[in-house]
Amino acid sequence: MADTSPLWFDPSLCFIGGTWRPAQSGATLPLLNPSDGNEICRIARGGADDVEAAVTAAQAAQDGDWGQMSATERGRLLTRLGQLIADNVEKLAALEVMDVGKPLSQARADAVALARYCEFYGGAADKVMGESIPYMNGYTVFTLREPFGVTGHIVPWNYPMQIIGRSVGAALAMGNSCVLKPAEEACLTALAFAHLAAEAGLPAGALNLVPGLGAEAGAALAGHGGVQHISFTGSVATGALVQAAAAKNVVPVTLELGGKSPQIVFADADLDAALPFLVNAGIQNGGQTCSAASRILVQRPVYEEVKARMSAAYAELTVGPAAEDLRLGPLISARQKEIVEAFLAQGADLEIAGQGQIVPHAPATGAYVRPTLFADVPPDHPLAQQEIFGPVQVLIPFDSEDEAVRIANGTAYGLVAALWTRDGARQLRLAKRLKAGQVFLNTYGAGGGVELPFGGVGKSGHGREKGFEALYGFSQLKTVAAHHG
Ligand code: NAD
Repeated sequence: MADTSPLWFDPSLCFIGGTWRPAQSGATLPLLNPSDGNEICRIARGGADDVEAAVTAAQAAQDGDWGQMSATERGRLLTRLGQLIADNVEKLAALEVMDVGKPLSQARADAVALARYCEFYGGAADKVMGESIPYMNGYTVFTLREPFGVTGHIVPWNYPMQIIGRSVGAALAMGNSCVLKPAEEACLTALAFAHLAAEAGLPAGALNLVPGLGAEAGAALAGHGGVQHISFTGSVATGALVQAAAAKNVVPVTLELGGKSPQIVFADADLDAALPFLVNAGIQNGGQTCSAASRILVQRPVYEEVKARMSAAYAELTVGPAAEDLRLGPLISARQKEIVEAFLAQGADLEIAGQGQIVPHAPATGAYVRPTLFADVPPDHPLAQQEIFGPVQVLIPFDSEDEAVRIANGTAYGLVAALWTRDGARQLRLAKRLKAGQVFLNTYGAGGGVELPFGGVGKSGHGREKGFEALYGFSQLKTVAAHHG
């Protein structure tokens, strides 16, 4: 990594079997900068033939050096990769600013998280153990945790680095060979990750990367008979397609599909502590976060105070070009802006309690929207039910604990929930009653949390990534029973 320009590699190539090459069709796609809509560069438009080559290379790595490598050595390679990422945080962040439109400090945090995932999974690689099982006299029985073989990773545009870290990092730690399909809207840090993995010494074929369109490279990967596990993060509709394609090959799938996550504020809450989390967890990354806290449920005695304080916080929010590192950058694309604006139009009958500002010099060709807080939103309103994936939050008042639980659990999703209350018994009671893969008590953990198992219930998906749990998800259990008399 010698030169200092943000693009320090050829972005138009696929990485297959340890070599960089164009898509076999020669086709490319434009990559746009969401801050101004300008083309940054062109990326490979990988197709089914490139996916075929990548799966073949991944299988060859399983049958070769990578498959033979000890868990300790795999862990060392991942740790070395984590160190390289940590050494290049600024370069990775600069790519993400340009590609995703992520404000610089948020892009930097993602790069640090990617390094941490590699460090965590590098350290864990040789600590995943089976167990011995008491059985009949004359037997010794034990279990082994083995890799699936070739794993497919379909990644969205909102947190490329964090999602690569949590899925590819864990899969590599368990000895799988990965085929990664980043999103067509944002794939520069995925390409950079592959360059750094090669520099760290990962054997050829252990990690392969095929950029391209979802309906082409993505669908080819999801339906490929040589792939033994698929990890998908993205929309519910696409997740269902991926699961259906994998089902034809009887292949397990981990789906992380977003949510409509609530933060519940009781009248006894420490509001000073809660306030920054209430707002930030909704607008971080422009609200384009699967675990965004898009619903704020507030008990009536403190409802007006929370509304007034959130409204004041919204008035301070500024939106502008990502490199300026304001609270919000642009959304990922003009298309995403249209989706969010259509949702905002559905709120025409609602009270707007707070709105941020787009800086006047923001290019008209960028995908900017004003963060918006709606008040007194009926729990069954579309804005309180559907994932918007933009900087939009709804305030919903409630009276009783039961009502809060009913509203919180009253969507199709269940990814994250938070409780703000000083009542310890209530914290534990509701932590059990809430329909969510993660519950936070007097905090909110959107993003981050490398060590914490993460995933959804209901339409938020199934399977768990992050933490030690992911290592079980990216391995399969074999039982060995020996009869020795
Ligand atoms: P998407 O689900 O279509 O795309 C996610 C990934 O899947 C991308 O890599 C894409 O190329 C790939 N893909 C698309 N079609 C595919 C197919 N048929 N087979 C295999 N892979 C395929 O999401 P999107 O179109 O980028 O965004 C649409 C909406 O999805 C957003 O508005 C948001 O609500 C939601 N979303 C959620 C998350 C999340 O983290 N949960 C991330 C991105 C988008």
